[in-house]
Amino acid sequence: MDRVYNFSAGPACLPVEVLNRASKELVNYEDAGMSVMEMSHRSGSYQAIIDNAESKLRKIMGIPDNYKVLFLQGGASTQFAMIPLNLMTNHKKAHFVNTGAWSKKAIAEAKKYGDVNVVASSEDKTFGYIPDLDSDMFDKNADYVHITSNNTIYGTRFSKLPEVNGLPIISDMSSCILSEVINVADYGMIYAGAQKNIGPAGVTIVIIREDLIGEAVEFTPTMLKYKTHADTGSMFNTPPTYSIYMAGLVFEWIDQNGGVAAMQKINEKKAAILYDYLDASDMFSATVDGVDRSLMNIPFVTGDADLDAKFIAEAASNGLMTLKGHRSVGGMRASIYNAMPVAGVQKLVDVMKAFEAKNK
Ligand code: PMP
Repeated sequence: MDRVYNFSAGPACLPVEVLNRASKELVNYEDAGMSVMEMSHRSGSYQAIIDNAESKLRKIMGIPDNYKVLFLQGGASTQFAMIPLNLMTNHKKAHFVNTGAWSKKAIAEAKKYGDVNVVASSEDKTFGYIPDLDSDMFDKNADYVHITSNNTIYGTRFSKLPEVNGLPIISDMSSCILSEVINVADYGMIYAGAQKNIGPAGVTIVIIREDLIGEAVEFTPTMLKYKTHADTGSMFNTPPTYSIYMAGLVFEWIDQNGGVAAMQKINEKKAAILYDYLDASDMFSATVDGVDRSLMNIPFVTGDADLDAKFIAEAASNGLMTLKGHRSVGGMRASIYNAMPVAGVQKLVDVMKAFEAKNK
């Protein structure tokens, strides 16, 4: 089979240039006589790889010097516990905005360690919108505000940051990091599992303002303290060496292709191609409206489960894969991360148009 257009929500498509480069470097990395996978994480060669990954990420995101970049394991899901263990330490309280399944998981985990105040939720409409937020909702007697910037399953995103009375905003950016320009200094901490816009699964990126690192709750396991990893350059134990190497190649690819601003432009174009068609179509419709629409994950439905299944099969026969929507929403979902070319989205729309004409 030739390479397909893979619309998976994650693990997701990677830039083919990065895959080709990794394949060239696989067996003998830069004359080291071994693969990156076989290298000691304490070797000079590997130190250069992790340093390069960090400096490229700092460059493309404009990360200020007073933020640490940590390369951790355990996925974004481990952050759901690490965040309260490390940061819910002063007021023992945090505010959460519930915008979907991942917010709910973060809320459930935080409840084990402190007082959780859910300021707003969009659960009443299957998380199809971002709730209105007002600074009055965020009293100051809390340690932080947690949001999920982009909701992978429901296809919503925060188009602007809420006013939160000066509290640190902690954002789960698993499915939108590097997709659009953000100001890192607006956040206390940003975290993301790699397997969407960063690289293969296995590494979780944490970008945290240094003054927030502080002391974790006393019983926190050593491996779950940010300080452990911040003090050791993410080398307290063996890091996910190959995933970090691959992430570094993706950061370089972004840098060489105009940086995050250029990614954003292409992402807006791709999203517009699909949303414009969905808004015009008599058969397909988007499940999210207006400014809350995600640039990365676009759910859509026909309203008829059999027709959805028929379309997904037709798309697959045209090399358009993994379009089935999450079971809680049904229908289809096209995840169009940075590595999805415009041509992939254009082909999807062409196949949808032909399907609509044939199945009127
Ligand atoms: N948060 C968001 C927004 C996600 O999309 C996901 C995974 N799809 C997670 C958290 C969980 O990530 P992980 O599987 O890396 O734990």
